[in-house]
Amino acid sequence: MPELPEVETTLRAIKKFQRQQLIEIKVNNRNLRWKVAKSIEIDTKNQRILNLKRRAKYIIFELESLSLLLHLGMSGSLRIAKRDENYFLKHDHIEFIFENEKIIYNDPRRFGSLHITRDINNHNLIRFLGPEPLSKSFNNKYLFNLCTNSKTNIKTLLMNQKNVVGIGNIYASEALFLSKINPVKQSNKLTIEECKRLTASSKKILNSAIKCGGTTLKDFYSADGNAGYFKIKLNVYGREGLDCSKCNSKIKKVTVNNRATFYCSQCQS
Ligand SMILES: [Zn+2]
Repeated sequence: MPELPEVETTLRAIKKFQRQQLIEIKVNNRNLRWKVAKSIEIDTKNQRILNLKRRAKYIIFELESLSLLLHLGMSGSLRIAKRDENYFLKHDHIEFIFENEKIIYNDPRRFGSLHITRDINNHNLIRFLGPEPLSKSFNNKYLFNLCTNSKTNIKTLLMNQKNVVGIGNIYASEALFLSKINPVKQSNKLTIEECKRLTASSKKILNSAIKCGGTTLKDFYSADGNAGYFKIKLNVYGREGLDCSKCNSKIKKVTVNNRATFYCSQCQS
């Protein structure tokens, strides 16, 4: 599934379309996670893109009189092609046509979505989201305050999008390992020092994944449109039964809130 770093890399790859005029949108299949509005073609015709940005895992196209909200779902990806290119792939659902090029949205599993809205900040998918993990608002005091009032385990708290956005299952396990915190530790038992380590590790791991993404940008333009998953070094995720990289005990796997969770019981308490 595309996580925050993959979405950020995707955004950077299409950033050059900012200020360009969106000539038209072509929808080949409206049946995404939510049905694409029938008015989208008419409402977006010949509008300039004022801004292209990311919020959580949404890519936002700010047009002159409205905004588009794109989510890549489980298997969505974008690729750039020449405007007159006639080569299509199965599952190419939407085309954003510009003067010389087009952006094609491909999504085999169709869990992605495209919404149109005149009030982006109050959109139901946006308004309840917590702060961005890479912003200054996500800091030790903020996290400690959330933890103090919560009896849920820290991994579940970290993955709740109302608390902070974009920390998916892999990154949560890895950030907790770097912070030496057990994923099932009750949130209100965390110290401010642990919250400091956890916010710093979360930022560190997301930033290194985004940095790796920069090197895969070339793939983004390839015909198959497959951005691939970033090759960051995983210390615990998917490593059940293997040696911990810091001590010599074995990595354990447990299920937390229905999600596979990996940790080292020696290093994390
Ligand atoms: Zn260990």
